[in-house]
Amino acid sequence: MKALVKSHAKEGIWLEDVPMPEVGSADVLIKVQKTAICGTDVHIYNWDEWAQKTIKTPMITGHEFSGVISEMGDGVRGLHIGDVVSAEGHIVCNRCRNCLGGRRHLCPNTIGIGVNRDGAFAEYVSVPAENVFKSTQEISTDLLACFDPYGNAVHTALSFDMLGEDILITGAGPIGIMAAMVAVHAGARHVVITDINEYRLNLVKEVVPEAIPLNVSKQKITSEFLHGLDIHEGFDVGMELSGAPEALRDMLTLMINGGKIALLAILPSGSSIDWDQVVFKGLQIKGIYGREIFETWYKGSMMVQSGLPLERIITHRYHYTDFQKGFDVMRAGQSGKVILNWELESKDDYHEF
Ligand code: NAD
Ligand code: ZN
Repeated sequence: MKALVKSHAKEGIWLEDVPMPEVGSADVLIKVQKTAICGTDVHIYNWDEWAQKTIKTPMITGHEFSGVISEMGDGVRGLHIGDVVSAEGHIVCNRCRNCLGGRRHLCPNTIGIGVNRDGAFAEYVSVPAENVFKSTQEISTDLLACFDPYGNAVHTALSFDMLGEDILITGAGPIGIMAAMVAVHAGARHVVITDINEYRLNLVKEVVPEAIPLNVSKQKITSEFLHGLDIHEGFDVGMELSGAPEALRDMLTLMINGGKIALLAILPSGSSIDWDQVVFKGLQIKGIYGREIFETWYKGSMMVQSGLPLERIITHRYHYTDFQKGFDVMRAGQSGKVILNWELESKDDYHEF
């Protein structure tokens, strides 16, 4: 089968012929239809410091996907050949305290699909059946392929009460924009979302017009700006989704006393903050990793059903053989979610829309 493989310890990713994956008794084989490119895949492509210490080459990358079950191990129950599914990319141990306590997203033994074992940028992927997500709703394969990063946004945004609250999101990448959609959907009063990339801020205007985009490289958040929004003591909830230490530092100063911050972004090691802001303002900071398995998936699915316009975050679609174009727009920061289509055999059958 064809797969996008990190086969060399240098920048790039390569389309190769590889053997079909093995399917254990508790696994399902999924014929991949759509995949989405994640920031993590871009790190792997770029072969940055994190990728060098994490990825063992050769590795089939990719973990955001949807497809159809084409084979099942003997031990699999409750799923069927032909089911249209996605899958949770974190494989957990099921034996640690958190797994046994029903908090599988906190498992310390997590293994990442497409990071620590072969992934979904391929014609087929084999995953444990317990990781499969089958929505009870009709959700397109394009959207299902975005459920992993959408789940990051859902997990972050639903960590704290949104109803009637004033929200600051730093970073309008795909996850920041999806988090803005969730905050709006969940009844926030004002959602201010910052970035330094005009493309991303324009995308906010198009896809989540209820949110207020702000280019912090040109305009700081001042008290006049806040008063204009009838915000007098600061933001109630912050979501740090940029990974920029200055964005987190500014966020701390902009929070109301007792405010809550959800921190999903990965900050450079050694990043510092003013702890006085946390202590004297009584702030709560919650680190977010992955998705709650499967509560986040359920909530995400139901919000799509009740009108959250997730499809708007998809800005580019390519046939998988054009993967380089997809990686190029992602690396340039000129995209929302980028979908690769693995369903059609040939590029000639594929018409971009
Ligand atoms: P992204 O890189 O596409 O988006 C980050 C955005 O932040 C970019 O648009 C960038 O221009 C913007 N930015 C840079 N400096 C800024 C500043 N000073 N102020 C405001 N915005 C600024 O990333 P993404 O895919 O949307 O993911 C968001 C973050 O979440 C990343 O840090 C990613 O590594 C992290 N992540 C964490 C998890 C987890 O489980 N914890 C999972 C997925 C992603
Ligand atoms: Zn565990």
